[in-house]
Amino acid sequence: MSIVTAPLTNLVALNFENMASLVARLGWPAYRTTQILQWIYQHGVHDIDQMSNLSLIDREALRSLADIGRLQSPHILKSVDGTQKFLLSLEDGLTIESVLIPEGRRLTQCVSTQVGCTLDCGFCLTGHMGLTRNLKAHEIVDQVLTARDVLEPDGRITSLVFMGMGEPLANLDEVSDAVIRLTNADWGMGFPKKRLTISTAGFSQRLHAIADLGVNLAVSLNASTAEQRDRLMPTMNRLHPLPELLAACRAYPLPPHRRLTFEYVLLGGENDSPQDAKRVGQLLQGIRCKINLLPFNAFPNSPFRRPTETAITAFQTILRQKGYDVFVRKSRGPDVFGACGQLGNVS
Ligand code: SF4
Repeated sequence: MSIVTAPLTNLVALNFENMASLVARLGWPAYRTTQILQWIYQHGVHDIDQMSNLSLIDREALRSLADIGRLQSPHILKSVDGTQKFLLSLEDGLTIESVLIPEGRRLTQCVSTQVGCTLDCGFCLTGHMGLTRNLKAHEIVDQVLTARDVLEPDGRITSLVFMGMGEPLANLDEVSDAVIRLTNADWGMGFPKKRLTISTAGFSQRLHAIADLGVNLAVSLNASTAEQRDRLMPTMNRLHPLPELLAACRAYPLPPHRRLTFEYVLLGGENDSPQDAKRVGQLLQGIRCKINLLPFNAFPNSPFRRPTETAITAFQTILRQKGYDVFVRKSRGPDVFGACGQLGNVS
C-alpha cells in the first residue's frame, strides 16, 4: 500500500490572510501570523528551524505542513559599471531577470512582473519574447529578498522600480499583493511607498489602482503622435490610444508633493527630432511631472538605433526650456544586457 502525503505548503506563497488561516488551522494564537511573516520578509530566513521565537514543538508542527520555497540561488552577471543582473529560475524551470543598479549612494532594483510580456513594444527585447505567464506575488517579492541576500552587510536597496520584464498592470492582482508584502512595515519588508515606482506602458483604465496602492506611477510615453505610438507600441496604443492615456494621466489623483514620471525611449531618427520634443512638451502641458529620457539600448536584430548625443541634448534642452524637469538616464549594465529594454533571457 503506498502512502500519499499532501504536498507541503510554501510559506512564501502565502499572503497575510492565507498565513492567518494556516495559523488558525494549527490552533495557534493569531499573533503567530505576524511572527512567521516577519521571519520570512524581515529576517529573510530560508528554513523554519531559524524561527527561534517558535518552540521546537511548534517548529516541528509547522514543518510537517509547510516549507519555505524560496527561489534558487541566482546566477549573477556583473557589469563593469557595477550593475548586477540576476537570472532567477522559477519552480517550473522558467527564467526571469532582475537588475540591481548602484548610483552614488543609491541602489535601485528593477523588478520583473511577468515571464515575457503581453505587449509588443518594438524597441524592447522582452516584447519580442511574447508572454509565457504572469509572475505570482511571491515570485515578484522573492526577487527583492534574493537581492538583499547577496548585498554587503551595509548594503541597502533604496528604490524599487517595476520596470523589468513585463507590464505590471497586466498582472495587477499579483502586483498589488506583492506591493503590500514589500511595503507593510509591521510584518512585510517595510519598503517606503514613495521609493517604489510602478511603470506602465499605458493601461489607462487601471492607473487608479496604483493611486490606491500609494506608490509612484511612471508612464512609458515614447511617442509624440498617435501615429508614431501606433508604430512603436501597437498593441498598447490600440487598447488605449494616446488621447485616452493622457486624459487618464490628467485625472490621476496625485498626492501633494508627488508627480508623475513619463519615460521616453529615444530612438535615433524615429522619435528624437526637435519637433518630437516640442510635441511632447505640448502633450504633457498641465501635468505635474518629470520626464526621463532613455537613449535606446541596442539588442541583436533590432531595427532601431541609438540617438546621437547631439539629438539627446537638443531634445532635453527643448523640454527644459518649456519648464519640465528632464533627466537623461545613463544606460547601465549594457555589457550584461541589463539595461532598459534589454531584458529577455540573454545571458
Ligand atoms: S517595454 Fe515594457 S510593456 Fe513594452 S514590451 Fe517591453 S516589457 Fe512589455
